[in-house]
Amino acid sequence: MSSTSAGTARELADAYLQQAQLPDLPSGHFIDGQIRAPQSGSYMPSWDAGLGRAFADFGSGDADDIDRAVLAASNAQCRWGSMAPSARADILQRVAARILEQQEYLCFVEALDSGKSLAEARGDVQSAARYFNYYAAMARTLEGRSLPLGENHIGWTVREPAGVTAHIIPWNFPTSTFARSVAPALAAGCTVVAKPAETTPFTALLLAQIIFDCGVPPGVVNVVTGLGIEAGAALSSHRLVRHITFTGSVPTGVKVASAAAPNIASLTLELGGKSPLVALSDCDIEATAEGARWAIFANAGQICSAGSRLVVQRSVYQPVLERLLTKVHSLRIGHGLGGADLGAVNSELQLSRIDHHVAGARERGRQILCGGEALEGPGWFYPPTIIDNLPVDDACIQQEIFGPVLSVQVVDNDEEALAAANCTEFGLYAGIYSRDISRALRMAQGIRAGQVTINDYWAGGVSVPFGGNGRSGYGRERGQEGMEAYMSSKAVVVRL
Ligand code: ADP
Repeated sequence: MSSTSAGTARELADAYLQQAQLPDLPSGHFIDGQIRAPQSGSYMPSWDAGLGRAFADFGSGDADDIDRAVLAASNAQCRWGSMAPSARADILQRVAARILEQQEYLCFVEALDSGKSLAEARGDVQSAARYFNYYAAMARTLEGRSLPLGENHIGWTVREPAGVTAHIIPWNFPTSTFARSVAPALAAGCTVVAKPAETTPFTALLLAQIIFDCGVPPGVVNVVTGLGIEAGAALSSHRLVRHITFTGSVPTGVKVASAAAPNIASLTLELGGKSPLVALSDCDIEATAEGARWAIFANAGQICSAGSRLVVQRSVYQPVLERLLTKVHSLRIGHGLGGADLGAVNSELQLSRIDHHVAGARERGRQILCGGEALEGPGWFYPPTIIDNLPVDDACIQQEIFGPVLSVQVVDNDEEALAAANCTEFGLYAGIYSRDISRALRMAQGIRAGQVTINDYWAGGVSVPFGGNGRSGYGRERGQEGMEAYMSSKAVVVRL
C-alpha cells in the first residue's frame, strides 16, 4: 500500500481493524530529499493506542542523524532563502492542495498513530492544509518598511530568513502542529529540521515527502524521528540551529531552552496550560455545557489549551453540571478507527500520568462526579472525568493533567471568578460564557492568557495568534505573529 493508495479513511480503518491490511509507512528519516536509514541501524516501535500493541517500526535517530539533517538544511538555506517569495508561495500552495488530496490516508495514519478518532484526525489534517495556504499568502506580502531619516540619508528594512530552524513536535496534534510552525518557517525562507514525538512519528515523514514532491529543494525540509532525550536533545543543542519552536511539557521546555542558550538560538515555547472556562451567572446553560464538553473532552483532553477548569458561578452551577453530565454520558469511547467520539489516550505512560492525578484527588477526599479510573484494556482508555468543587490549592487545579479530566471551581461573583481564572502559574487560554458582552469583556480584560474566547471555547483558527504567558511559554504561533520568529530584520541606511 502506498501513501497515495485509494480508499477513504473509513475503508482503510476497517481493513486495518479486520487485520486485512497493515499500513505501509516510511521507516527511516527524511533527510536531503530522501528516506535514509538511521546511521546507528536502530529502530523502535510505534504503538496502536487503541489496541495497546505495536504496529510499525520507525528510525531511532541520534546525534549523527541530527547532524546530517542540520547540515543538509544549512547547505540548502541559501538557495531557498534567496528564492523569490512568490515562488516559495506557489510551492506552499501546492503543498496545501496535496495534503487535501491525500487527506484520507493522512487521517487514517494520524488516527492510528495518535489514538484519536478519525473525525478528530480529519480536523488535524485539514488545518495542516490551512496553515500552508495561509502562510503561502503571507509569503507574497513579505515587505520591509522605509525609514524617514532626514534629507541626507535614506533607509529601509529588509526581512531576512532566520536560517536553519528546529521544530520539536508534540504527540497530541502531530500533523497540524508540524504545519503550524513549518509552514511559516518555509514561507519566511528558513530551512527546517523537525523531530516528531516518539509516539507519533509518521505524519511528519509523510508531510516532508509531500513538501519535497511539491518542489521544495532537497535539504530544505528534514525529519528525524526518535527519542526526545536523544534526537530532540541533539537538535536543540545543535550549533547551526538559529531558532527552535518547541511544543510540549514545561520540564522539557526548560531543557530545550537551556540547550539552546549556549548557541544564542531564539525560541518559541508553547508549553502547558490549565485553562479556565468561566461560566458567569447569565450564561446560556446549553451553550456553556456544550462548550465545556468539547473544551475538555475533545482529543481525550490532550490539548494544551483544553478548558481543564470549569469556573462556574453558584447560581448556574447545578444546571450547567447536570447538562454537562448528560452530554458526557452520551460520549462513545473506543478505538479511534472504530467511529468513537473519544479515542484512546496516546500512550501507556500518559494513561498512568492521568490515573496518578485522579487517584491523588480521590485520596484527598475530592468528589468525583463521573469517570475516575482507567478502563480495562486492551488499549489505553480513560473515561471523561469530572472532579467537583476543588479548592484553589488542589493539585488538580494547579497542575496540568493532559487528559479528559475537568476540575470544577465554584465561585460567587465576578471578582471571585476572575481570581479563580487567574489562580495558576499558566496563562495560555480562557473561555468566557455570558449573555452580557460588557461583563464578558471586562472579564476578558482581566484574564491573563494569550487567547480569550467568548461564548465559543474553540473559536479562532490559523489566523488567530496563539501562545502563552507565564509557565505556558512565550512567542506566538499562527496569524501574522506566527511569521515573526522566522524572520530577522536588517536595516540599511545610505548617506545621500
Ligand atoms: P511528553 O512528556 O508528554 O512526551 P514532552 O514535552 O517531553 O512531552 O515531549 C514533546 C516533544 O519533546 C517530543 O517530540 C519529545 O520527543 C521531545 N523531547 C522530549 N525530551 C526532550 C529533550 N530533552 N530535548 C528535546 N526534545 C525533547
